[in-house]
Amino acid sequence: MPEIVYLNGFFLTKNKALISPDDRGFNFADGVYEVIRYYKGQPFLFDEHIRRLERSLNAVKIVFNDTHELQNIFNRLILENRLNNLYAGIYLQITRGSAKRTHHFPKENLQCTIYATAFEKKPMLKQLKTGIKVISRPDIRWLRCDIKSIALLPNTLIFQEAVEHGADECILIRQGNITEGTHSNAFAVKNNKVYTHPDGNLILSGITRIAVRKICSELNIELIEEPVKQHEIHNYSEFFLTGTGNEIMPVVQIDNYIFGNGIPGKITREIQRAFFKHTYEQLAGEIIGI
Ligand code: PMP
Repeated sequence: MPEIVYLNGFFLTKNKALISPDDRGFNFADGVYEVIRYYKGQPFLFDEHIRRLERSLNAVKIVFNDTHELQNIFNRLILENRLNNLYAGIYLQITRGSAKRTHHFPKENLQCTIYATAFEKKPMLKQLKTGIKVISRPDIRWLRCDIKSIALLPNTLIFQEAVEHGADECILIRQGNITEGTHSNAFAVKNNKVYTHPDGNLILSGITRIAVRKICSELNIELIEEPVKQHEIHNYSEFFLTGTGNEIMPVVQIDNYIFGNGIPGKITREIQRAFFKHTYEQLAGEIIGI
C-alpha cells in the first residue's frame, strides 16, 4: 500500500509530494517540527504538543494560524495509512516557505510549507524491559534548545557516535551538567527522589517529561528540577530517558558506569508502569507485559 502524506492542503502518495529546492527548510533548516504518538488511533497529550508547536513557531517568527486544523489532518493520515489499530506516530514539519535564497526573511508574505506523515511505531518492548546503554558527549548544540527546530545536525552527529559505539543514545554534557539526550530528556534517581534538568533554553521541554511530572506527583515521588552533575553520577542509583519514541526508557549504563546491578531501578519501573497505564491501557485498551 503506498504511503499517503500531507503536503500544503493535499493528501497524496509520498512520491508525488514535491518540495521546492528554494524551500527555506532545505536551504537554512528554517522550520520547526513535532512528533506525536498515537496509541491505536488515540493521540498522546495532543494539546500539549500543539502548545509546544505554537511556542516553537513564535520563537522563529513563522506565522501559521491553522493549528486548529491539524488534528483532522493527523486523524486522516492515521486512517489513510491504516494505522488506527496500531501503535503509530505523526511527524509534522512547518518551514517558513519557499523564496529566493536570502539570509533575511523574504519581504513577500510567504506560504509556509506544511508537511506531515504517519508511520508505525511499535513499542520498544525489549529495551523498555532490560534498559539501554548510553554514552556521554559534550553538548555542542546552540543556546535555543527549547525550540523544536529542524536544524538537528549536532543531534545527528552526536547520535551517530552513539550508534558507532554500540550505544542506544547519547547524553549531553554542558559545563559539567547533564542537559538531556540527543532526542530524549534525562532523569536520575537518588534516595528515591527524581532529578532532571530545569526547563529553559538548554533543553527541549519534552511532552513525555510533562507526563513524568504528573506521574511523580500522583505517586508522591519528589521531582527536583536541578541539573545532575556528570561527575556525581555514581551517587545516583537509577537513570532513565523519556521521549515520544522511547517513552520511559531505563538506562543501565552510562559510558563505563553501571547503575546498581545493571537492571532497571525500582522508581524507574514505577514511573514506567504508571505511564503505560495512561497510554497503552487507557488509550489503546491493551496491557503490555513488561
Ligand atoms: N529532547 C530532545 C532534544 C528531543 O529531540 C526530544 C524528542 N523530541 C525530547 C527531548 C523528548 O521530547 P518528547 O517527550 O516531546 O518527545
